[in-house]
Amino acid sequence: MPQRSFPNTKTLGSPPLSLLPGRPRNRNEPQAGDGLMKRPDARTTVSIQGKLLKWFQDHQRDLPWRMHYRPYEVWISEVMLQQTQVRTMLPYYERWMARFPDIRSVAEAPEDTVLKHWEGLGYYNRARNIQRTAGIITREFQGEVPRDYKTLRNLPGIGPYTASAILSLAFNEDRPVVDGNVKRVFSRLFDLSTVLTAPESLRSIEEIARAILPPGRARSFNQALMELGALVCTPRSPRCLHCPIREACVSQVLGLVSQRPVPTPAKALSSIEVAVGVLVSNGRIFIQKRPAGGLMPLLWEFPGGKVKKGETPEAALVRELREELEVQIQILGKIGVIRHSYTSFRVALHAFACRLRDEARLPVLRSATESKWVNREEIADFPFPAANQKLIRMLGAALP
Ligand code: SF4
Repeated sequence: MPQRSFPNTKTLGSPPLSLLPGRPRNRNEPQAGDGLMKRPDARTTVSIQGKLLKWFQDHQRDLPWRMHYRPYEVWISEVMLQQTQVRTMLPYYERWMARFPDIRSVAEAPEDTVLKHWEGLGYYNRARNIQRTAGIITREFQGEVPRDYKTLRNLPGIGPYTASAILSLAFNEDRPVVDGNVKRVFSRLFDLSTVLTAPESLRSIEEIARAILPPGRARSFNQALMELGALVCTPRSPRCLHCPIREACVSQVLGLVSQRPVPTPAKALSSIEVAVGVLVSNGRIFIQKRPAGGLMPLLWEFPGGKVKKGETPEAALVRELREELEVQIQILGKIGVIRHSYTSFRVALHAFACRLRDEARLPVLRSATESKWVNREEIADFPFPAANQKLIRMLGAALP
């Protein structure tokens, strides 16, 4: 896509007059609302760089990985921050670093321990990939995070975003980093009138991000943009009056901030009903490990399955445990209904306390990879999907 520049204007950082409402368009000038953003001219770029860097210096949050910018800490923080806000992720980050202070300690830990320290963050493949990558770095790179984009990209779980974040934040290499915050800031700052999910939007944002990156300042500038998105140019009610670059913000001048980013049509979430059994025997509870493929692989769970059309949750549970574990059960009582929304679906989990009709006949695993009988205290040592975690918190008084 050819990039065009704003023509020079007298007012530093202001968009050209032709972008303002009520003035006829000149065909040769860049137009607002034609679907792609325009690169700011050199003067505006310098102004944005200077103001953002100064603002970041004065307003950045005190975050643990910003103390030394160690590559391992930057890597883990960036992976944890995908889909999660700083405030939510901080306790997880601190718990992780206390248990895994270096790359070797992640590589050598049991997988269940790694997953347990990820429990609550979701997208467990990220934790598995961290452990696989930690193993490779320990064996092949003497425990040091590689400093080369191509090598990083070949490691499990390190995509273009994470590789660029590690290189620019840990090593201050001149690479732009475009996360959700940066996309939102750019869509407003440069008035992007296409949805953020459109491929041309991302291309356009990345081109401008490269163009306005001040050489030698990638660490601070990238973080300044992300921090501005997190603290000032927030998804709802951006604090434009406190924004250090408001004079250069095209959608602010055009009165379009509330329409940027252009909203993406919401996808309807599908809903499923599931019946699960907390199977008790001699004071212990049966748990099983999910298979390696499919949804939430290798996490532990209580046995059960989907409620079919026309079936009651109780009937579904009896059928599922007969099919999955080859056991007959007696339902002792309902524990409750747990509702949880995952990224692409909602689940209503009908949970029941139950026991084996024939205690001598042990479950046979038809789909799970492993099972255990554990007491209530031991359950806390195993990683479970979020809806099961809610159920565990309800177990206290609910069991016989
Ligand atoms: S002026 Fe408002 S909309 Fe524009 S970048 Fe700043 S906070 Fe975001």
